[in-house]
This record gives sequence, structure tokens and C-alpha cells, in this order.
Amino acid sequence: MKKNVLLALLIVCAIFASACTKLDAQNEAEVPETEKATIAEAEKLIINEIEETDGAEAEEPTIEAVEGIPTVTGTTTFVVDIVNRLAEDFVITELIVPAGDDPHLYEPKPQDLEKLTNSDLVIYHGLHFEGRMVDVLETMGHQLAKDFPADEVGVMDDQGVMIVDPHFWFNIDLYKKAVENVADYLSQMLPDKAADINTNAETYKSDLDQMFASCQEKMDTIPKQSRILITPHDAFNYFSRSFDIPVMAPQGVSTDSEVANKDIQNTVDFIVQNKVKAVFAETTTDPARMEKLKEAAQVQGFEVKVVSGEGNELFSDSLAPAGEVGDNYIDMFTHNVDLIVENLK
Ligand SMILES: [Zn+2]
Repeated sequence: MKKNVLLALLIVCAIFASACTKLDAQNEAEVPETEKATIAEAEKLIINEIEETDGAEAEEPTIEAVEGIPTVTGTTTFVVDIVNRLAEDFVITELIVPAGDDPHLYEPKPQDLEKLTNSDLVIYHGLHFEGRMVDVLETMGHQLAKDFPADEVGVMDDQGVMIVDPHFWFNIDLYKKAVENVADYLSQMLPDKAADINTNAETYKSDLDQMFASCQEKMDTIPKQSRILITPHDAFNYFSRSFDIPVMAPQGVSTDSEVANKDIQNTVDFIVQNKVKAVFAETTTDPARMEKLKEAAQVQGFEVKVVSGEGNELFSDSLAPAGEVGDNYIDMFTHNVDLIVENLK
């Protein structure tokens, strides 16, 4: 089954790539009717392909259409959280990458393509965060990162190649810009609700400012010599600039890269030389990697704490599952700052 599904998925992706004219997501607000028709055909094809090659029934569509209420699909927990803050009463939201999964590595499944094609609006991060869905999303969706000022978007070294840093949500100004973009997309879809959506956006941005100011005060209590943040993958460069705290990430930017022994040794030497109190695990990567640092530091006679375990991990690339601490952006950010301050102060 899995092989056939993958095959079908490849076919659909090929169809999207060849048959659809790429929309310029920077400028286009609507998916043209011709595009919708092509997408609908592609969706039929994927269902047929699964049935024919497998003899099994196609999976039921995951979206329950409710008359008059549009569906908005977001690729990640961040997107869905913003949509809920702005338009919870007016739309139904669907999520592609489940909470806790890693968007860098996420491979879309047939039911994801159904969600995307059945949605009235698709919103994604952009800046190549959804690395393996980029082609489909650029064709069908609208990005959070639209019109970000070039001088505020970070670049980073990914194994010798300079790439755009996708982890912009740790820059509060860019995040507020993303909120405004979502408000625009929603307002264009629901002009009757535009006033409410924009009021909600203003309230939300004011809450974000308040949260950030409070986090700034807490971060300022960490003494200068302790201001070093060591995380598994390189997701905290915007955070670093926001709070003037240098970061180091032995794994680099991409979560699928293996950590080279050389990078581990460099990080361990740095930890020992700078007497770094604690290193942090993340919810979306393997905590065992940080234990390696601890063991290697012990060899040099230095004890560093690994901050990990349920409730003690940093959120980097996903919010928490609904109902848990960190299941919305403000709680996630506050949790990260509290954890960092508690262990570095
Ligand atoms: Zn990341």
C-alpha cells in the first residue's frame, strides 16, 4: 500500500509541477478557476491511482464540508494558531504537519493533498520551511512570509551553502507581519468579516507586544557570562538577535543532517571553555544528541546539564499538541523563555 501511495503522490506532484503555471504567491490572492480545475483533476487521478493499483478503497476525505463555513488549511501549528486567533468563529481549520512533527522533513500524504485541494484557503510559512512540499504549496497556497523586509530575514550556513533562515517566528516583528498577512488573506476570502478579523489582528498584535516585553525583562536577568544558548538544530538565530544571546547548534540548520564528530567536539570544547551551565533539547529532535555533549564534556571533567524530558524541552519548529503547555504561540514563547532563564540564570 505504502509504495502505491507514494507512487500516486509522485504522479500528482509531477502533474502539479507540469500542468500548473506557478502562481506568484507574492502577488496573487486567489487561485484562478483554471488552476482549481487542474487541481481537482489531479485529485481525482490520485484517488483512481490508489484504487487501481491497490484494489483498496481510497481514504475518506478528511474535511467535513460545512455549508457556508470556509475551510482554511495551514501547513503547521503556527499557521493554524494565527488563523484561530483571527477567525476562529468564521472558519474551520485543518492542519497538515501534526504538532510535534518536523516540518523540514515532513513528506505530504495523499490525505494532505486532499486537505489542500478541498480547502478554500491554504496558508504556509514560506522561506523553504516546508522543504519537501514547496512545489505544491507555491502553486496552491499563500505564505506567512510574504513581503518580509529583506534586511530582517536571516541567512545561515547550511553545510557550506548560504540559505534563508526559515525560523522567523522568533522575531516578534516578523511574526506580527505574518499575522497581518493572514488577516489580509482571510479578509479577502471573507470581506463581510474583514472588520472583525482586523480588530482581532490588532488585539493579537498588542498581546504579542506585551508578551515580548515581559520575555525581554526575564531574559535581561541572565548574567552576561551565562548568555549562551546551545540547542540541537539551528532554529534560534532570530531569537539570538532578539535577546542578544549567542546560540550554537551542533546539528546545523537541517534536522536531517547527521552531527559530525568534529562539530560535536567544537561544541564540547566551547561548553567547557565557557563553563556553559546547561544545553537544551527540543520537542522536534532527538534528545540523545544533547546527551552526547554532556558525556563528552564529562571526559574533560566538566558537568553540563541537559535540559530535557516532558515539559522541559524547547519548542522550535512546532507548537505543542492541543491541550498541552505550549499549544499556542504566546504560551510556547513564554515557556521557552522561562526554561532558558531558569537554567542559565
Ligand atoms: Zn528548524
